[in-house]
Amino acid sequence: MVRKSSLISKLSVSPFLGEDELVRVKGRLDNAPSHKYDERHPVVLSKGHFSLMLIRSQHKQMKDAGVETLITAMRNKYWIVGVRTLVRKVCKQCISCQRQDSRPQDQAIAPLPSDRITRSPPFLSWEWAMQDPHRHWGKNCTSW
Ligand SMILES: [Zn+2]
Repeated sequence: MVRKSSLISKLSVSPFLGEDELVRVKGRLDNAPSHKYDERHPVVLSKGHFSLMLIRSQHKQMKDAGVETLITAMRNKYWIVGVRTLVRKVCKQCISCQRQDSRPQDQAIAPLPSDRITRSPPFLSWEWAMQDPHRHWGKNCTSW
């Protein structure tokens, strides 16, 4: 018997006590013999630490699966109260997912040197015109 104040009674699905003494829910797949018993009647779990650890384990097992994929995978066996919140929390806390979803940082652009932005006649600054990264310049700019 489920009390009215219990969290289970607030579920949109109807819970029942299974043969294995676990609280399960009746779903719409009740008359689908092709599905496993766990899929037809998933186990009800609260929004606690155990559920969080279960989701985290499934997330790693499925190689950093996204929110919807992870929810679908979890509902094959468990009916976790507030599963979307927990799955989002796991995905947000995962370091691999943070690295994968991060945006590249914008590169800071340095200001141009003053001799490049002041007006001057052409070839006044000969160093800039003769610049060659493969050529070695001596101390007095004589050996090249
Ligand atoms: Zn991840």
